[in-house]
Amino acid sequence: MIPTNFITTTTEKIIKWANANSLWPLTFGISCCAIEMMQTAASRYDLDRFGVVFRCSPRQADLLIVSGTVTKKMAPVLLETYNQMPNPKYVIAMGSCAINGGCFHESESVVQGCDKIIPVDVFVTGCPPHPEDLLEAIQKLREKIQRA
Ligand code: SF4
Repeated sequence: MIPTNFITTTTEKIIKWANANSLWPLTFGISCCAIEMMQTAASRYDLDRFGVVFRCSPRQADLLIVSGTVTKKMAPVLLETYNQMPNPKYVIAMGSCAINGGCFHESESVVQGCDKIIPVDVFVTGCPPHPEDLLEAIQKLREKIQRA
């Protein structure tokens, strides 16, 4: 008789599953989109229920949510923060400013998209994006991690 109460998998699949289901973002709000990011973590949308728990140190984080306008003065800080995060690490660009400079894209003091500085996994459009858009982006990132 063949036992049926077991599953087969690989270590790689288990690690991907764990990474995808325990994303710990760094608090990196740099402009008004950060208010919506904070709202997503608060009680109404409750990111904790998805295993997404904000951290205050890049050393403890594996997700960087760039929520706001990246100025040229802030760009080196963004890069250094990203470099301090351990691998594997992921980036979500939240809002028009983080994607391409948004309404400030013609300003000489603004970087026209954080992907000019660090690699971005998921882009969330909007000015600002709704918390549900950020939730959807996190879901897309989880699927991307599991597919990789
Ligand atoms: S996209 Fe809109 S809400 Fe977000 S940081 Fe830029 S101006 Fe502010």
